[in-house]
Amino acid sequence: LWSNGRPLNIINSNRTCGSIAQARLLLEKELDTIRAAGTWKGERVITSKQGPHINVDGSRDDILNFCANNYLGLSSHPEVIQAGIEALQKYGAGLSSVRFICGTQDLHKNLEKKLSQFHEREDCILYASCFDANAGLFEVLLGPDDAVLSDELNHASIIDGIRLCRAKRFRYKHMDLNDLEEKLRESQSSRLRLVVTDGVFSMDGDVAPLVGICDLAEQYGALVFIDECHATGFLGPRGRGTDELLGVMDKVHIVNSTLGKALGGAAGGYTVGPKPLIDLLRQRSRPYLFSNSLPPSVAGSATRALELLLASNEIAQSMAAKTMRFRNGMSQAGFTIAGTAHPICPVMLGDARLASIMADDMLKLGVYVIGFSYPVVPKGEARIRVQISAAHTDSDIDHTVDAFIQTGRKHGVIS
Ligand code: PLP
Repeated sequence: LWSNGRPLNIINSNRTCGSIAQARLLLEKELDTIRAAGTWKGERVITSKQGPHINVDGSRDDILNFCANNYLGLSSHPEVIQAGIEALQKYGAGLSSVRFICGTQDLHKNLEKKLSQFHEREDCILYASCFDANAGLFEVLLGPDDAVLSDELNHASIIDGIRLCRAKRFRYKHMDLNDLEEKLRESQSSRLRLVVTDGVFSMDGDVAPLVGICDLAEQYGALVFIDECHATGFLGPRGRGTDELLGVMDKVHIVNSTLGKALGGAAGGYTVGPKPLIDLLRQRSRPYLFSNSLPPSVAGSATRALELLLASNEIAQSMAAKTMRFRNGMSQAGFTIAGTAHPICPVMLGDARLASIMADDMLKLGVYVIGFSYPVVPKGEARIRVQISAAHTDSDIDHTVDAFIQTGRKHGVIS
């Protein structure tokens, strides 16, 4: 909607005023620029549940899906679906309220308790998304006397959250401990200092050097925050995340993560950390105070996903083996795959148009993958980001490697 609640097509009506016509022209011009750069992001329509095999409107029947953040295959797990149905029936479709008015059910309190237990932190606060958790944290924790030191490739939601806070900002080079130390020295006079990093960077699947970060933070008296959206549920011996993988669970002070990826994939985000911080977020965090409570079915599904992970790490281990099968097969074929052992496996291509055309060709061979290009990744670093799920079979993975080989040869990427 534009103004006075009128829909966009008012622009075509007789009542169009000059400024709206001008706005339309400007918008069309901007859209043309995106198309011309080959960075247009289309949306394919899925007509089935999320999973390793899906139906896509306009494509052949059974398509292999290799681009969901459904790392553990829990998005369509029967128990996760059933828990959602039961919560819907018992607690209704939604709360029609923010948490502090009449939007808190025992379901939400129970999920917050389980998430604290999972991450081994004092307390937890739920949000409608991790984007909101990142938008709501920094402004509450940090004031003008404080400083935030952020990796230059942190997720957009972290960047936006930091923009909202009044702390002094220091941006250190991607995963560069020397540069971080320099910024820690420069910010010595600040009251509180917070080092902020993605646990795993979603475009490259690379893991933050948390041991070094935590050592430096300890040395300079700073706090450490990590965004664990691409780690929660499957990294580390018990799937607790990057901090568990690298043995620093007791040295990372605040964790934000999502329910919208490995933990059932519905929606929702959260912060876990010291109790006084969580208490203050409930009082002051704007996306929490001014946005509706998480729907009961979503909370119910996420709770069940978490229970499955607390009971066993078998699913996470099977995902790790499949990741290595894909990475090895592709590397042997001559492709360059960024990152190391993470299920995010970016097939590096460089050119935006090539990434997009190859993704289209892969779909014709029954494999759904997506090309990523600027501004999502730096210019000249276009890629097809493949994501492995525990729900893929070995034969799904082998089929996808074969399809890449066929498509890569066609476009001269491999010989
Ligand atoms: N942080 C990272 C690193 C992400 O990859 C994402 C999702 O793309 C988010 C935050 C936002 O998560 P949500 O989908 O829960 O808003």
